[in-house]
Amino acid sequence: MGTKLFIILSVVALGLASCTQPETSDGGFDVVVLGGRVMDPESGLDAVRNVGIRDGRIEAITEDAIEGERVIDATGLVIAPGFIDLHVHGQHDEGFTFMIRDGVTSGLELEVGTGDVAKWYEQREGGQRAHYGVSVGHIPVRMIVMEDPGDFLPSGAANSEEASQEQIEEMARRITEGLDQGAVAVGFGMAYTPAATLTELETMMSVAAERNASAHIHVRGGLQGLIEAIETAKKTGAPLHIVHANSSGGAETPAFLARIEEARAAGQDVTTECYPYSAGQTRIESALFDDWESWDDERFGIHQWVATGERLTRENFGHYREQGGSVIIHSRTEEMTRAAVENPLTMIASDGGISNGRGHPRGSGTYSRVLGKYVREDKALTLMDALRKMTIEPARRLETYVPAMQNKGRLSVGADADITIFNPDTVIDKSTYTHSAVPPDGIPYVLVNGVLVVDEGELVPDAHPGRAIRAAQSSS
Ligand SMILES: [Zn+2]
Repeated sequence: MGTKLFIILSVVALGLASCTQPETSDGGFDVVVLGGRVMDPESGLDAVRNVGIRDGRIEAITEDAIEGERVIDATGLVIAPGFIDLHVHGQHDEGFTFMIRDGVTSGLELEVGTGDVAKWYEQREGGQRAHYGVSVGHIPVRMIVMEDPGDFLPSGAANSEEASQEQIEEMARRITEGLDQGAVAVGFGMAYTPAATLTELETMMSVAAERNASAHIHVRGGLQGLIEAIETAKKTGAPLHIVHANSSGGAETPAFLARIEEARAAGQDVTTECYPYSAGQTRIESALFDDWESWDDERFGIHQWVATGERLTRENFGHYREQGGSVIIHSRTEEMTRAAVENPLTMIASDGGISNGRGHPRGSGTYSRVLGKYVREDKALTLMDALRKMTIEPARRLETYVPAMQNKGRLSVGADADITIFNPDTVIDKSTYTHSAVPPDGIPYVLVNGVLVVDEGELVPDAHPGRAIRAAQSSS
């Protein structure tokens, strides 16, 4: 179906849904969720209601009795829009398995992204456990153009060499092509491509700006890198999203967030996100560690090798760097993590991905940790504020360029039936830095497109209702 026709039909369907009285419908819902506390950050609705779902959409939110083929008793539970994660890396079946159990119904890889958008979507065709989408990434495009040998992040020329004018033009051409193929944003990681010049960044951001696609950037060098990103976005007109303000802001997180607030107050379209952990994770062979040989001995100990859980030393750091792989860095304070999570500016995004049973606990516990630790235990933010950061805000970040997002992140009649049902009294993450693949407690039901993917706290083994999220210009 042509995208335009699809949009027109969707608008018509929405119109019909809101002017009929769905709560007095024929009772033939596919799924009904009864007696739960419906929380919708878009409308502010926070009340006990019954929710009726048919054909992948929410068709009723009502106090009246409704019936359906499958009945879920949500007494004592919160019924929320499914969580939208704008920063995910493990978009394969195992990664999705952990995302959905943490309440995520749309997982998008927008920071690193991909250099081959058509192939990326093709590899996931036929359904995933959650909805999926990707950016065309400056990092992987630079790796292709500069023939870097790295497999995820640069470890050669794309890290260390300045690009020629022809190479910059070739990167811009590939980013344009990726957008033509339906990429939902443009990804950047200046911390991983330190040799990229300001001209190169500007050229790529101009491509994003032309389409009004958002630029999702992992800035280089803390506050200075943030200012570089904000000013380049301002100059080119690109909508800007700063990834993991907690990780990039570090000990300066409050000042980092204040600089973003300042740009917003001046009218610039800048948003940001964070994850609720004081350790980061990245690849040991990346540019972040180029100066490792000059470190003091004690600095090595904050690094934890993901494959074994061991803390590193000067002796084995070099060995693992040559081998390549994931490393967790215990580098920040709880105070800074909390400052990021509770700040009204930040969305919640995991930066996670579990592979072969290993990873950072953020890949399986980000959302349950915010709800359990920061909302319930620490009272750092209200439940509605936390949900706003997980649902409507990420939807709004993308929806101008990606119309499919206009039906996500909301719990309202006509919206997609992507729904997360959790117990606010028990929800909590269970993963640790040594056991990172433990599902959280307190999220008994998750629906994607109206289909249960988590049922009574258990994974539904063969449910793969997740579909591709693409931008409107998609050529296919
Ligand atoms: Zn990331």
